[in-house]
Amino acid sequence: MPALALAHRVTRVTPSMTLAIAAKAKAMKAEGLPVCSFSAGEPDFDTPDHIKAAAKAALDQGKTRYGPAAGEPALRQAIANKLQRENGLRYGPENVIVTNGGKHSLYGLIMALIEAGDEVIIPAPYWVSYPEMVTLAGGTPVIVPTTAEQNYRITPEQLRQAITPKTKLFVLNSPSNPTGMVYSPAEIQALAEVIVEADIWVVSDEIYEKILYDGATHLSVGAVSAAAFERTIISNGFAKGYSMTGWRVGYLAGPVELIKAVSTIQSHSTSNVCTFAQYGAIAALEGPQDCIDTMGRAFAERRQVIIDRCRRISGLSCGEPEGAFYLYIDIQPLGLSSLEFCTRLIDEKYVAAIPGIAFGAEGTIRLSYATDMDTILEGMDRLESFVNAL
Ligand code: GLU
Repeated sequence: MPALALAHRVTRVTPSMTLAIAAKAKAMKAEGLPVCSFSAGEPDFDTPDHIKAAAKAALDQGKTRYGPAAGEPALRQAIANKLQRENGLRYGPENVIVTNGGKHSLYGLIMALIEAGDEVIIPAPYWVSYPEMVTLAGGTPVIVPTTAEQNYRITPEQLRQAITPKTKLFVLNSPSNPTGMVYSPAEIQALAEVIVEADIWVVSDEIYEKILYDGATHLSVGAVSAAAFERTIISNGFAKGYSMTGWRVGYLAGPVELIKAVSTIQSHSTSNVCTFAQYGAIAALEGPQDCIDTMGRAFAERRQVIIDRCRRISGLSCGEPEGAFYLYIDIQPLGLSSLEFCTRLIDEKYVAAIPGIAFGAEGTIRLSYATDMDTILEGMDRLESFVNAL
């Protein structure tokens, strides 16, 4: 065997910790261990029946062939309609590409836009894959730390200060994974002003837009003004809102030239997204939306329980997530690194959580409450006994 000299780009990144810990929890469960998993953000609900029925019908109709690399025209149109109807963004189907999940929409964008010398501003705590994708593309992630005191929101001043002549892209994620914070419309407007003034691109990761609590609202940065719209790229998908994680259908929307470039990359890498899955996605957008409310009510109930249980544990503190389905917990008073905390928690108590270090924020952990109430109650009991014994 020749010496394995891996490409430099891949040696500079690490595997996704969210996926690694979720896989470890699943493997332990398969071995028969009583695992409570708060790891991956994966709704435990089944995909709604009408969505599954549409995919099954597509299979029966022979939608089993290659399709256009940029996606089925009917789905691109349905997405453009949705962005117009729900988000106030004037896109046509030519502004949309269907991707292999929301993650892949971001990957395609970064591959098409970022190269050596480009800086990408990423507020921390951030979702694990943002900086790694930038590194894979040869760009430089510029991490801007935020604190619990500022509710993990980057301020317009912080954004302004992080911008240099090399800045090409700003990554905005609201509702946020991992913190659950949601920028208010006024805050989005203020960030949009900085983006326009500096003339940089912004990618708005809106994958959690439908999961909101206590009257929080979602404003897409592209809807703020014509100037903001020109600089906005939207990333979204069906996994979280419609409980379609394994379907791998997401999308990117933006200027036609960019969409064409991402489509070129896709044509040489993945070709089209699974054809019949795309018909399920059309049904998700165009069918009844009551599944969103049903799941939203369950998330809200679980959220309240997990917040209350967390606040009972001395040494832990948390805010109240306004969106998504993550509880972000400060563990600093306990004096363990986040990795040590989570490793011991899973090994000793069979409770899976994600260490804050994966999100660029030591001294914290993330619990996904997109899981059933029994798991939440049992898992929080074990977390409490783990912390009390430290
Ligand atoms: N986005 C989810 C999470 O953060 C799923 C895993 C992943 O893609 O990172 O848990």
